[in-house]
Amino acid sequence: MNDHGDEPDDIRRFWGRLGLPGLVDVHTHFMPERVLNRVWEYFDALGPLTGGLEWPITYREAEAERAEILRGFGVRAFTAMLYPHKPGMARWLNGWAADFARRTPDCLHTATLFPEPGVEAYVREAVAAGARVFKAHVQVGAYDPADDLLRPAWGVLAEAGVPVVIHCGSGPAPGKHTGPGPIARVLAEHPRLRLIVAHMGMPEYEEFLGLAERYREVRLDTTMAFTDFSERLAPFPRRALPRLADAGDRILLGSDFPNIPYPYVHQLHALERLGLGDEWLRAVCHDNAAKLFGL
Ligand SMILES: [Zn+2]
Repeated sequence: MNDHGDEPDDIRRFWGRLGLPGLVDVHTHFMPERVLNRVWEYFDALGPLTGGLEWPITYREAEAERAEILRGFGVRAFTAMLYPHKPGMARWLNGWAADFARRTPDCLHTATLFPEPGVEAYVREAVAAGARVFKAHVQVGAYDPADDLLRPAWGVLAEAGVPVVIHCGSGPAPGKHTGPGPIARVLAEHPRLRLIVAHMGMPEYEEFLGLAERYREVRLDTTMAFTDFSERLAPFPRRALPRLADAGDRILLGSDFPNIPYPYVHQLHALERLGLGDEWLRAVCHDNAAKLFGL
């Protein structure tokens, strides 16, 4: 195992100072080993997933060690974000994720979906089996989230109140259906759908904040946003800071662990240096997610 040095202590000091019982991270990746290895190969090859950027994976460890690292950081609950890039994969991924949640009690049981025949049935099955969060990846999946095939599945999730973390912003590289337009069409039809816009909607931060302002159940996760890495590529506009402060009850800590090109603690410092105060940090790093998931 790599030595991550003083990092656990630094992270525990961060949430300890805020008086929190730990962190909740809504955006961490666990997936079947051969799928994760494939993802890592993409990052290594500086492919479209990275927008051609150098992207060293900081926590390239075996699965059990990765979960232990999160526990060492005091992450009370995390997710197993996984997603298909083609039809015929989601049901298999959901089976793996259900088993992972069974053997990993601090992981929120995660599921995924794809626009394909049968999607409504397997989404219903996953919800019935106890899935507490879904992941959708519009860029990797290269589909329109407003696709007719997905309509009944969004309806099931809206009705069940199960949140969906959705990568729909155009960062780090745009896709055919990324950006706020297609998501706005989904929300117009399913206004109570609990979408959690990944990466704060980077780089379309303001448009996605606008959707959160318009729809009570829309939230955003902080994954990679505000870090030195992302600020170089897609800086968060300073003029939107007051809106970020006002949306403090709808922003959730996400990290992209383990696939991050910097130490985990940097995400926390990146949130702290926004200067929005301790109350905002407590809500974002723990309380909002604890409330949403009933932890
Ligand atoms: Zn991610």
